[in-house]
Amino acid sequence: MTLPIGTLLAALALLLVVAALIAQPLLGPRRPAVLPESQRDRLERERKRVLRAIREIDFDQRTGKLDADDYSRMRGDLEAQGAAVLRALAGLQTTPVTRDIDAEIEAAVAALREKPDLSRACAKCGGQVSRSDHFCPHCGARLPA
Ligand SMILES: [Zn+2]
Repeated sequence: MTLPIGTLLAALALLLVVAALIAQPLLGPRRPAVLPESQRDRLERERKRVLRAIREIDFDQRTGKLDADDYSRMRGDLEAQGAAVLRALAGLQTTPVTRDIDAEIEAAVAALREKPDLSRACAKCGGQVSRSDHFCPHCGARLPA
């Protein structure tokens, strides 16, 4: 059988497009299946829970399942909870958790930089040398281990 080259090319192009569409979700950026719940996620979940609870008691009040006293007490509690959650969320937004990287590096370096133990003297020049020195820093003589 003979097909016009144009038809073959068009079919091939279509095939490539379809293959790309099928493969695209598979080639997308890999995300871990379960992300650890962040503080923000927890607060968002809490905010939704409070909103849902408020809607529920609003509904219960309208349908006469809650008397006015219970309703206003519960509604007040939920509004206070909602306000606390919103304040916490706003706090997260204004003060992002930033680590003082410079301070951490300084601390790590300081921990590594142990004070030299100048308890030895060089046999050649008599200068003070550290226990960890292999060569005398004053005269360059090799020091015993
Ligand atoms: Zn020396």
